[in-house]
Amino acid sequence: MNKQYKNILLFVIALLAVYTAISLFSQKTYRQSQTPYTWREFKEDVTAGDIQSVEVTQNAEVPTGSVTVYMKDDSRKTFYVTDVNEVIDYADTRDVTCVVGNVKKAGGAFTSMLPYIFIFMLMMFMPYMMNRVGGGGGNNKMMNFGKSRATMLDPNTKRVRFDQVAGLQEEKEELKEIVDFLKNPAKFIEVGARIPKGVLLVGPPGTGKTLLAKAVAGEAEVPFFSISGSDFVEMFVGVGASRVRDLFEDAKKNSPCIIFIDEIDAVARRRGTGLGGGHDEREQTLNQLLVEMDGFGVNEGIIVMAATNRVDILDPAILRPGRFDRKVAVGRPDVKGREEILNVHIKGKPLAQDVDIHQIARTTPGFSGADLENLMNEAAILAARNDRRFIKMEDVRKAFIKVGIGTEKKSRLVPELERKITAYHESGHAILFHLLPDVGPVYTVSIIPTGVGAAGYTMPVPENDNVFNTRGKMLQDIKVGMGGRIAEELIFDDVTTGASQDIKNVTETARAMVTQYGMSESLGFINYEEDSDEVFLGKDLGHGRNFSEDVAKQIDMEVKKIVDSCYEDAKRILTENMDVLHACANLLIEKERISRDEFEALFDEKC
Ligand code: ADP
Ligand code: MG
Ligand code: ZN
Repeated sequence: MNKQYKNILLFVIALLAVYTAISLFSQKTYRQSQTPYTWREFKEDVTAGDIQSVEVTQNAEVPTGSVTVYMKDDSRKTFYVTDVNEVIDYADTRDVTCVVGNVKKAGGAFTSMLPYIFIFMLMMFMPYMMNRVGGGGGNNKMMNFGKSRATMLDPNTKRVRFDQVAGLQEEKEELKEIVDFLKNPAKFIEVGARIPKGVLLVGPPGTGKTLLAKAVAGEAEVPFFSISGSDFVEMFVGVGASRVRDLFEDAKKNSPCIIFIDEIDAVARRRGTGLGGGHDEREQTLNQLLVEMDGFGVNEGIIVMAATNRVDILDPAILRPGRFDRKVAVGRPDVKGREEILNVHIKGKPLAQDVDIHQIARTTPGFSGADLENLMNEAAILAARNDRRFIKMEDVRKAFIKVGIGTEKKSRLVPELERKITAYHESGHAILFHLLPDVGPVYTVSIIPTGVGAAGYTMPVPENDNVFNTRGKMLQDIKVGMGGRIAEELIFDDVTTGASQDIKNVTETARAMVTQYGMSESLGFINYEEDSDEVFLGKDLGHGRNFSEDVAKQIDMEVKKIVDSCYEDAKRILTENMDVLHACANLLIEKERISRDEFEALFDEKC
């Protein structure tokens, strides 16, 4: 390379490095003055008389803003509020000096991004330079077919730790044993212990399996080879198997270490089930995996971890002792777990005083860790789009609807009659939700169309996380599902097509009660579920159902019986509450969306 050019480049890089260092440093001193501080602590400090003065700065989106508190000991603290007037009034009554600053415009974003842009550019240049200096680096991609593809995480880089995995206390406890072994194998070998070779993490998507595996490697401070099951399965025959071989060879050289196979179901599916017949590529890969796992001796210092959300389709051979003999179930978090996960994901996200993490945790049953992460991220995006530097409860509420239902589309013009029908439809759902004992209460009722094509929605707050469904609750679910259509029938002469999804859900629930849960009158305790799992396409072809036409007819009758009796019941309840139905629908037409309090007030007025 031209020497002069190289010198100039070096000079520029040095300049950038200095600039970055300076800007990072100056940011740091700024940050340190912002210790977390809350409205409550502020009030305490005011009472204690520790405060010199406060400065209130409004955001572009009034009346939100930030409050800088100057303490008598020369320190400075900041917190955020949804309404600055509250602080001004409070300071007024307590005789605290209060300065009101200007409206803060979100102009600083680019300036604060600058250092990061420079670091990014620096990183872009680095490999380029190295390459030039080293002179090597030919194109050897073509030679790498059979190479393992696994990425090895160096033990020295920054790694995930157990404290970044929230909730999952028992799961972590179980895996600590593995960490101990990797850290100090001698201790275990001395007493003749056999450490499991393989650990299988099983659980629904987004519950933190991948995160957990990374944390094990992080805690143990050993190399971590990670590969996804689908990486093994490629176009070229034989590649998968040779990748497995290669992976284990690398691992042996680096033991003690962890091999992590994410989404192992892609390779380890039950053999002989594919439509293509016996020996396909995947099977060879799986065979090779089993051979390798049997091949390395006990306590050799390699632990194979794998994750899947479908343990039922795995080949049984993989679960035999000496292979994945340890199974750790990673479940969806409960209220406490959700609160802990939320607390992990609000790090670095400034919150206004009205954001109640406990409340968010309570209203998100069924959310996985990934869902919660997504929820808080959406809330942060909404805050940033409003040029605000912190998150309000309103953002979280909007994000909740966006994540759960799809963005509300306020811009769509809805004809008056359609609005009216939707209002009665949703009121019908909502009233049944409220009045039936095991479902609800109602969180929001809305007739704002959402992205997924629904004309409106009624969102319940399940009070607890039930593992089981009961017969009573399923019947109530069916009634609630019918409420929308019944309300339409009661008010209008005609009915709409809008209830098709409701009807589908109702039918599915009723059918499941009869065929899966033994909850019908005449069919009793027998499973009549039709096995329609597509994964088994090869295995069960032509094996659709295992009962006669007569039974099929009987099932249909039982389903209809359930549906009909629920219909009568739901219709009776709605007829008895006609006044609430009208009041609720009118309120919806007026306000488009009503909250739990507004909705429940309608019932109070009645009596
Ligand atoms: P899985 O592998 O089970 O599908 P991941 O481990 O990939 O799920 O989780 C996806 C993301 O969700 C993680 O990167 C993390 O941000 C978040 N997450 C999931 N579970 C947790 C948890 N228990 N604690 C903290 N964050 C979590
Ligand atoms: Mg994963
Ligand atoms: Zn409906």
